[in-house]
Amino acid sequence: MLQPGELQMVEPKRPKPPIHWSDLTVDERKAKVIELGLPGFRADQMSRQWFSRLSDDPMSWTDVPAELRQSVKDQLFPDLMTSVRELACDGGTTVKQVWKLFDGALVESVLMRYPERVTMCISSQAGCGMNCPFCATGQGGLTRNLSTGEIVEQVLAGARSLAKGEIEGGVGRVNNLVFMGMGEPLANYKNVVGAIRRLTDDAPAGFGMSGRGITVSTVGLVPRIRQLADEGIPATLAISLHAPDDELRDTLVPINTRFKVKEVLDAAWYYIEATGRRISIEYAMIKDINDQGWRADLLGQLLRGHQVHVNLIPLNPTPGSKWTASRPEDEREFVRRLKNQGVAVTVRDTRGREIDGACGQLAAVAAE
Ligand code: SAH
Repeated sequence: MLQPGELQMVEPKRPKPPIHWSDLTVDERKAKVIELGLPGFRADQMSRQWFSRLSDDPMSWTDVPAELRQSVKDQLFPDLMTSVRELACDGGTTVKQVWKLFDGALVESVLMRYPERVTMCISSQAGCGMNCPFCATGQGGLTRNLSTGEIVEQVLAGARSLAKGEIEGGVGRVNNLVFMGMGEPLANYKNVVGAIRRLTDDAPAGFGMSGRGITVSTVGLVPRIRQLADEGIPATLAISLHAPDDELRDTLVPINTRFKVKEVLDAAWYYIEATGRRISIEYAMIKDINDQGWRADLLGQLLRGHQVHVNLIPLNPTPGSKWTASRPEDEREFVRRLKNQGVAVTVRDTRGREIDGACGQLAAVAAE
């Protein structure tokens, strides 16, 4: 357990998950395949099986000689996670998975099907070291970073279910991805960027989804925001601001003691400039804590004139939390004041509440 305000910036030493095909670049895959005694061109065929045909069973791949399939499976495609719990709501169009990783760590992902698209919410770390007091994941501290393969696997698992028509609504594909599950993605920078590359690279290198459909949500790790801006990935950045003033933000998002509101927003403006992409500002509406009219006015002053969109998220109270969601009239007034200043704002829909689909709660329950 972390103490109030305490941050955990260093990943605890833990055994690393096994290396997986999804971890590897195209050149690395080729080298591995040759090591196993296969010609290098098999690597592209295997990548197509894995990322395009979404076949997760190397034992059935006829382009790999039968006697080598077991070694291919064991050495290049080890199982990275098993589903320990699957929960559905919204008529089967919202499905949450709790995954157990090789070391017993639990993470979760959520698939949300809308009439026009499918969005997946995925985890980047087991636990989180950022210690935001309103967030269920933050309370337990950081277990470890997920590998690139473990991040990718959450998406491919969803993609396979959709391709097989297992999700209500028929055969489909993953259109959007949000790094809003467990963990702080920019604290696991290398593996998250690796996963984004694997997911956005065209076949045979990767899964071939559009980078524009990917949102990376962060507490505001300023140097990493600037680094991400320069990666050349057209992802959307979401900043979890939650307060426009340092005094309150220091308590709601403890990393603010290191990177202040102004520095975070300056990095956000740099991101917009470098990528040409509009950014999102996440703001959990917490009754009588951050939802006052004057805070809406201050937020509007900070944001107006920039290419931003504010997402107000009604607080999803964590078990035992002293906080709750804002009153509807306060929420309406907050929206009105932001709009008055010409700032685009929407209130987040709260899908998955009944299965704790929001914000790190299910893995916490499953761990009990
Ligand atoms: N660590 C990243 C991403 C994970 S959380 C980040 O902080 O941005 C995704 C979003 O859900 C963040 O904006 C986070 O602040 C918000 N969130 C976490 N717990 C919440 C809760 N109980 N109610 C509403 N929003 C919450």
